[in-house]
Amino acid sequence: MSLRGKVAVVTGSTSGIGLGIARALAREGADIVLNGFGAPDAIDDLQRSLSKSCDIRVAYSDADMSKPPAISQMIDRATHELGAVDILVNNAGIQFTAPVRDFPPEKWEAILAINLSAAFYATKAVLPSMLTSDWGRIINIASTHGLVASAEKAAYVAAKHGVIGFTKVVALETAKSGVTCNAICPGWVLTPLVEKQIADRAKGEKISTEDAKVELLAEKQPSQEFATPEQLGALAVFLCSDAAAQMRGAALPVDGGWLAQ
Ligand code: NAD
Repeated sequence: MSLRGKVAVVTGSTSGIGLGIARALAREGADIVLNGFGAPDAIDDLQRSLSKSCDIRVAYSDADMSKPPAISQMIDRATHELGAVDILVNNAGIQFTAPVRDFPPEKWEAILAINLSAAFYATKAVLPSMLTSDWGRIINIASTHGLVASAEKAAYVAAKHGVIGFTKVVALETAKSGVTCNAICPGWVLTPLVEKQIADRAKGEKISTEDAKVELLAEKQPSQEFATPEQLGALAVFLCSDAAAQMRGAALPVDGGWLAQ
């Protein structure tokens, strides 16, 4: 399969899972809009190396996914610079953990805005052109926490359950078209978002980082192995293929057996 000639926007793609997905789509020939925060030099290097190694066009948007006007500007700019968006991966996300009684309201608002509302605003912005061309792929990066809960993750679990509900609605509204919308539900993936949780656990329990990793996996993920950004990238590529044209509104776990328990 080739995605050459397609334009893909991957939010939160300067790191972790988003970067893994952007690389996988780029290898299939899609032109890419990177988005997310990071050191300007590192982002420049990433943009250049991806463009050269995959012979594609790579743009970058520093749009803050907590700001709806910035999201529509990102889509407008992508359309102007690379062409109408064919593939949208709503991936940007943040985490914060605390019991509900101590949960800071500003963290609740930020997680809901970035992890949930951003998917709504970006989808709303790309849908008209996808429906006009009668082809599109919207891939929402939810989580196992979109299907089950864990203590101390109220905002994250609420947002990710919301993402799965939103995915189903978009899938139904586009069911008679060539546009599909699905969610990927990763379990633990070793990225900066999870490294922080591992460091917090190591500090709280006065154990080594390695032991904290083993504990984290043992608690939830029967395979005792992290899923990888490369595996998630390969699934995103599959969702863009013709083979996945009738997958609509699915929530696909990649979780080492977490949800099988
Ligand atoms: P990460 O911290 O490595 O990457 C997050 C990306 O989002 C970065 O590029 C960051 O710059 C960007 N970002 C953060 N806030 C942003 C904002 N306001 N505007 C624009 N970009 C912003 O995290 P990750 O683990 O790769 O997470 C990516 C997605 O995968 C998230 O939605 C997360 O909830 C989800 N997820 C992660 C795991 C895991 O175990 N790592 C598991 C399930 C789901």
